[in-house]
Amino acid sequence: MIRAAKTSLLMLSIFISASALAEFIPKDSRVPGGVAVISLPQKGDAPPHVFFQENRVYTAKKNGEWFALVGLPLSLKEGQYQAYWRTKEGDKPFPIQVKHKAYQEQRLTVKKKHVNPDPKQLERIRKETPVIRGAMDTFKPVVYEQSSLIQPTEGRISSSFGLRRVFNGQPRRPHSGMDIAAPTGTPVLSALNGKIAAIGDYYFNGKTVIIDHGQGLTMLYCHLSRTENLKVGDQVTAGQQIGDVGATGRVTGPHLHWTVTLNKARVDPALFLDH
Ligand SMILES: [Zn+2]
Repeated sequence: MIRAAKTSLLMLSIFISASALAEFIPKDSRVPGGVAVISLPQKGDAPPHVFFQENRVYTAKKNGEWFALVGLPLSLKEGQYQAYWRTKEGDKPFPIQVKHKAYQEQRLTVKKKHVNPDPKQLERIRKETPVIRGAMDTFKPVVYEQSSLIQPTEGRISSSFGLRRVFNGQPRRPHSGMDIAAPTGTPVLSALNGKIAAIGDYYFNGKTVIIDHGQGLTMLYCHLSRTENLKVGDQVTAGQQIGDVGATGRVTGPHLHWTVTLNKARVDPALFLDH
């Protein structure tokens, strides 16, 4: 009797996940730091093989139609690019017209050690950078079912993606993610289903969790005051708490910094929020 009840519950949950919930697709924006959402005429359930600048691209099926989500690096110049869909008949090109986007400049004042690290701090940065990049810039042919994306924390967007940054008067890399300002201790949730790819306390990022959502889609959450008791390889579900907002690393105050990566390109998280 109990077994029968459990089985029917399982059947119900499978039914809900298969019918009511579509795969998650971000907004199309063909600018540096944007995402080109390309419809593919592929039939069947096997994920299509699509490449952009040598990197395999994330693909998802929505309402029976396949899409490639091509991350467009911030460094791209305005112009025409091509993604390639690999088929039995050969590679089929899909043109992507990338438009110019002018990102604003942002001037910030932070601790001197976070702009001009000393040799010991530089050594630490050199060790941490490949760990962080390795977790973000990867392609694992794993498909997680994604129904909807959860905003990772409640708060005000205090700094948007792509801003050209000047720290203490010195130019640095553009802003690689979105900042959501919230008081220290506000829960931080995983936006999607996935697996922990890295968790640690890093020089610039402070306490950080990086989650691999499969097929080159990764998300980084940093400057946390604390992280949950998670380890590399642990499965996480959309909406699961992974830590709390904090002010660790290179910050001016408590906030969540959230980076979204597709095919090794940092892309604007806003495209995932207002899709
Ligand atoms: Zn940030």
